[in-house]
Amino acid sequence: MKRARNNRGFTLGTLWGLLLLGNVLQDPAGAAPARISLETPSNEESSQFWHISDLHLDSTYHLTADHTKVCASSKGVNASNPGLFGDFMCDSPYRLILSALQYMKDSGQQVSFMIWTGDSPPHVPPKELSTKMVIDTIGNLTATVRNFFPDLQVFPALGNHDYWPQDQLPASVSEVYNAVAEFWKPWLTDEAVATLRKGGFYTQIFQPNESSQPLRIISLNTILYYPHNNATQNMTDPANQFEWLERVLETSHRNEEKVYIIGHVPVGYLPFVRNTAALRECHNERLVDIFRRHSSVIAGQFFGHTHRDSIMVLLDKKGKPINSLFVTPAVTPVKPKVLIDSNNPGVRLYKYSPFTYRLLDLWQFYLNLTDANMKNESVWKLEYVMTKAYGIEDLTPESLYKIVQRFNQSQSKLFQKYYHHYYVSYDDASLICEEHCRISQLCAIQYLDRASYINCTNTEVKKHG
Ligand SMILES: [Zn+2]
Ligand SMILES: [Zn+2]
Repeated sequence: MKRARNNRGFTLGTLWGLLLLGNVLQDPAGAAPARISLETPSNEESSQFWHISDLHLDSTYHLTADHTKVCASSKGVNASNPGLFGDFMCDSPYRLILSALQYMKDSGQQVSFMIWTGDSPPHVPPKELSTKMVIDTIGNLTATVRNFFPDLQVFPALGNHDYWPQDQLPASVSEVYNAVAEFWKPWLTDEAVATLRKGGFYTQIFQPNESSQPLRIISLNTILYYPHNNATQNMTDPANQFEWLERVLETSHRNEEKVYIIGHVPVGYLPFVRNTAALRECHNERLVDIFRRHSSVIAGQFFGHTHRDSIMVLLDKKGKPINSLFVTPAVTPVKPKVLIDSNNPGVRLYKYSPFTYRLLDLWQFYLNLTDANMKNESVWKLEYVMTKAYGIEDLTPESLYKIVQRFNQSQSKLFQKYYHHYYVSYDDASLICEEHCRISQLCAIQYLDRASYINCTNTEVKKHG
């Protein structure tokens, strides 16, 4: 565990965070402490890290008889079944976020670092937020995370909601980049802070001890490639992030480092809608090309943004699996009113080799929100262990690809399990993935570039009519 370098950068946010924290912790209905005992899949020495994403704090959340007024993020729609820990029509109450962090802390897990892939503010119309409110929210949640884990190295990434107006993250210096650079200074090197200020991205070496191989974290600002970002619309290489990324990856080759890529919006195609990349097509193609060329140094990729739990396997041009990618589900349970499905709040722990940084396993934890509200108690639980749930040895590209091949068999029970996990065990019997849904899911898992993705959907549609 690396000690944070100093205590700077938490003035405004700290104050607000600690005030809120004080109120909530006095409440007797907080999280019950629970230590988790986790078996190691093999005798191999391993280390661990946490991954949290999409906290989306809605500080307006409160219980009231008028269900249209429970939270600003329901946008005037009735909350469905509001309770102490939130509602599926609302973003996270502060209490929900605290219960997640408290559970992680009480779990007693020894972790070497945490990744946090963005989206702190709530889903509300732009007129209800401002640059100051967005900055204050990120500051508050940064202070909250630091308060629970004062000595833990955290690697954050920016989300599309971490800006005002949302999605418009610019390709140059900005008030928001400067503010987060100040907030995150205690976790980052001067060099990382400098690139964060200029374009919202950075890289940093993590080395648990001198005898181990260095791990390089690359935190990408994927919002520069987000289709709704007008600020970067006609740019081929916004903020020169591609050029920078290639340079950093070449350095990793030379220095024999391993790399974890972290970012908010995932590369590849969205699993819930046909023919739609999460990023702009041209930028997605370029990213996939870079990841293919440098796959030998990239030991894992970690994203958020969709709020759902999914995997992707990057294949090379000959169809060989070369990279494992993970999308972690959100802490917020919110859903837009047009959707029937939502997700329970989730947090995730990865196990990796401290020598090779090979990914060994992941533990997905979740809160059954309906239960928690009913009992006025937040009982976070283990949802699944990936190697056990899918019968694989580890999380290498080869192992993940074995799962996918089993998903491809028709009537696959394993795919049904995956689809249940996709919603973080959100309890709705109507969530069945029929053929159209299944093809979208399976093609998105395996094909990240346009040509191979289109080929997959066309072939599958022909096969299944
Ligand atoms: Zn989000
Ligand atoms: Zn997002």
